[in-house]
Formats: sequence, structure tokens, C-alpha cells
Amino acid sequence: MIKTDIAVIGGGPAGMCAALNAAASGADVLLLDRDSHLGGQLIKQTHMFFGSQKQHASVRGIDIPAILKKEMEQYGDKIKVMLDATVIGFYEDGILTVEKEDEYIKIKPRAIVFATGASEKFPAFPNNDLPGIYGAGAVQTLMNVYGVSPGESVFMAGAGNIGLIVSYQLIQAGVKVKGVICRSPVYGGYAVHAAKLRRMGVPIMPQHKVVYAHGKDKLERITLIKLDDNKKEIPGTEFDIETDVLCISTGLTPLGELLWQNGCEMKFVRELSGHVPVRNEEMETSIPGVFVAGDVAGIEEASSAMVEGRLAGLCCAKGLGLKHPDYNALKEDYLEQLHDLRSGPEGDPIRRGLAKIVI
Ligand SMILES: Cc1cc2nc3c(=O)[nH]c(=O)nc-3n(C[C@H](O)[C@H](O)[C@H](O)COP(=O)(O)OP(=O)(O)OC[C@H]3O[C@@H](n4cnc5c(N)ncnc54)[C@H](O)[C@@H]3O)c2cc1C
Repeated sequence: MIKTDIAVIGGGPAGMCAALNAAASGADVLLLDRDSHLGGQLIKQTHMFFGSQKQHASVRGIDIPAILKKEMEQYGDKIKVMLDATVIGFYEDGILTVEKEDEYIKIKPRAIVFATGASEKFPAFPNNDLPGIYGAGAVQTLMNVYGVSPGESVFMAGAGNIGLIVSYQLIQAGVKVKGVICRSPVYGGYAVHAAKLRRMGVPIMPQHKVVYAHGKDKLERITLIKLDDNKKEIPGTEFDIETDVLCISTGLTPLGELLWQNGCEMKFVRELSGHVPVRNEEMETSIPGVFVAGDVAGIEEASSAMVEGRLAGLCCAKGLGLKHPDYNALKEDYLEQLHDLRSGPEGDPIRRGLAKIVI
């Protein structure tokens, strides 16, 4: 049985920042990730980040993990990293079970930060499991991590920031993007990304959805249908598009299975994109000593994931009696940064969502 002060589950931006602040407060930290690298979603994001300057806006996503890793180095052995390690169990006695290279390891931390991120939502339609139908995360991984083109032509379902950015990256990689659809009357991503695509001749078609995928052993064609203002299908408006890749970018949903397993209080909050843990301002859930940060606490962006991670690491350590010398000033700064990141009309849904779960 491995013992540590704080186990941080998930080595994405939220988990790395949580580990940093827990160690800075004097805690011994074990940072676990099921992947063979740290960085979470960031390792495939080649574009320059939007968000706040304090959280590396204008730096390419792929370069942020290296900055955080360098910061981690100054804590030496205070932060131990365990990679290729999937946490599969979280039990009432606070023990975590981890699968690593076909072995099962038990960990008994004094406190835990869950920063497990999110999974992609996948709409239901006949043949949606044909080879050639990918989530946007998989397409980005193929292209930006392994340098492999997903196919010859791509049709994008989803016009939020991710759908628009991945479409643009596909074009940069020499792949033809045949079109982008979304169900709403207006696309959800930033206008600057949509304008780039339109300039390159890619049609963006609001109020459409995929109803059928065709092909024998792999995708050959998709059927689309038009939607009315209530997002209802308009019969007789179906039409087909030939494509060997359909990229699905219809949103993310928080990965809170381990929290469910141990009876953490969860609520469905549409504005935060799924079931999220009820928590307090310090990111502590209904289970004392169990904290959350990042997309698992509600889908936002890497900037807020990093600030939440810093806040969770700081407060989690304090709960163990390890109070950072600048605890009060740091906490105030993180709460202020989160407030700023969620201000304005774009932050409105997040503010409404958080009002339902922050106690
Ligand atoms: C295409 C795209 C573009 C984006 N662009 C921007 C942008 O410009 N600006 C911005 O601010 N944000 C952007 N984002 C959002 C940003 O990437 C996420 O909000 C951010 O990565 C969330 O961080 P996280 O640490 O919560 O989760 P993740 O980055 O998803 O990290 C979670 C980690 O937990 C690990 N994990 C999960 N379950 C387990 C388990 N059971 N055991 C062990 N490890 C586990 C995963 O392997 C992963 O490494 C973008 C996202 C995408 C997909």
C-alpha cells in the first residue's frame, strides 16, 4: 500500500496545477495519469490559447505542459508522478485502486484532488460506429500528436470552438473539409475562427444534423437533415454528402465516475455539460478531504481548469494542516481570476450552472 499526503488523479492542466500548489504548501503529492505523459488535452492543441494572460494565453497548448513540468521540478521528490496508471476504484475507506501494467496497486492518501477531465459526447444515429467516424479529440490526436491524416475529406458535426479550430487545423494539414454543421441557428465558436473557415471556402450550415451514416466496412456517405427553430427535423429535407471521415465535435461531458463510486453528491447541470459534484468555493466536494478541479467540475476552458487546480491544491493541503505562507492572498487571487474568466455574457451559462452546485 502506497501512502501519501495528497493524491492528484489526472495530470492535465488542472491536475498539474493542483500538484504544484499542494507541494508548495508542504504536502507530499502523488500525481497519477492513465496516459504515458502529462498534459491531458493540451498535448494535442497546437493553436495559441485564448483565456487569461496569467494562465498562458497566446502560448500554444502543446507548450504549456512543459512550462508546468519545469515548475514542478523545483519541488523535487515532493511531487511523485505515476504514469500509465489508471485509477479504477475509490472506496469508502478512502483507498484508491490503480491499474498499472497489469498490476493492481492500492494507494491510501490523506486527501485527494480529482482532475480527471472530460469525455466526448457522441450523438446517436444508425451506423455511428463505422470506421471513419471519430471524435474531435481523436482527430486532433491523430493529426497533431502522431502526424497521421484521418482521411481524405472530413465533414465536421459541431461548430463550437473545438469544431471550428479542428476544421481549420485539418485544412492546414492538407485535408479537405467539406462543411461544418450545428443544430442551433447560430454557431457557438468564436467569429474569428468561423471567418477563417469561410474565407477558405468551407460552408458553415446552422440548423442541420446527421441522421444516417452509410458504408460497408468504412464510412462512405452521410445523410443530413434540416432542423426548424425548435431543433425539430423538417421531413423531406434530407440530403447526402460523400465523405470518408465524419468528425464529431458536439461537446464534452465531465468524467465523474470515480466520484459516483464513492457516493459523492452529484447533480445534473446542463450549463456545465453533465453530472458534476456539488462543492464549496474551495473546490471540496460533499466527501471531506475530496476536492475537484477542471473539466470534471464542469466543462470550461484550460485557463479556469488551471486556476481551479491551483485553488484545490492550496485548500486541500490546508485541510491537512499544511497552510501555505501566502494562503489568504493566493486564495483571494484565484477566486478573483475565476470571477474574471467567467464575467461577461459568454460566462453567463457557467455562472448560472455554478449557482446550482457551489454551496
Ligand atoms: C480542440 C480543443 C481546443 C481547446 N482550446 C482551448 C483554448 O484555446 N483555451 C483554453 O483555455 N482551453 C481550450 N480547450 C479546453 C481545454 O483543453 C480543457 O478545458 C482542459 O484541458 C481541461 O483540463 P483538465 O485538466 O480538467 O482535463 P484534461 O486536460 O482532460 O486532463 C485530464 C487528465 O486526467 C486523466 N485521467 C482521466 N481519468 C483518469 C483515471 N481514471 N486515472 C488516471 N488518469 C485519468 C487523463 O488521461 C487526462 O490526462 C480546448 C479543448 C479542445 C478539445
